[in-house]
Amino acid sequence: MTTAAPTQLRVPYVIAHADEVAPQPLWFVRRPLGGMQLAYKDPRRGDAVRGVLRVRVLTNRRGAPQWRKLNTLRQWRCMERMRCQVCGKAATDPATGRIPWIMTDTAFREIPDEPTGGLASAPPTCWACIPEALATCPQLRISSTVCTVARAEPVAVLADMFTPGPGRRAIPTGERNVEISLKDETVLPYALATQLIVHVHDLQPAVRD
Ligand SMILES: [Zn+2]
Repeated sequence: MTTAAPTQLRVPYVIAHADEVAPQPLWFVRRPLGGMQLAYKDPRRGDAVRGVLRVRVLTNRRGAPQWRKLNTLRQWRCMERMRCQVCGKAATDPATGRIPWIMTDTAFREIPDEPTGGLASAPPTCWACIPEALATCPQLRISSTVCTVARAEPVAVLADMFTPGPGRRAIPTGERNVEISLKDETVLPYALATQLIVHVHDLQPAVRD
């Protein structure tokens, strides 16, 4: 690396911090209609969202920033409520109703036969934060396009996979960041979701003075 980081680099809202890790014991429970389902040993309301178990993390933003990792709860909130991944505030442009979004090779995928749609795993970025995001994030400097989208809805998760072991223990299969459709009811019971993926609609290159 030849580029020195700015001295006062703001840690983006979605980035995970070291002290937010909250390991929780998992196991498999029998489902009422047959089959097994990954669950926490001390179940709480809200563990499962959109039909999939979500990893439990804290949101205190304490400890060293984990620059390659996103905080699951904040990432989820950004995706469901169209919050800016840098400042955490509403990302939608009030003047146009459109949502500014930096699309990168790693966090965006086209959908065949849908020229203005796609799948995004990184949340939007508000206009105010876009210059800072482009200037400071090494990944964005390599390959990114500033776009706007009309709307976005959750369609899939990225998840770590588990399989039932003796005593219904949850054994990690070693598969991480597996993309699973929210409609895939055969695989979702074995998944621990870490990120939400949205389907963006009416994606256009940004035109802005
Ligand atoms: Zn922002």
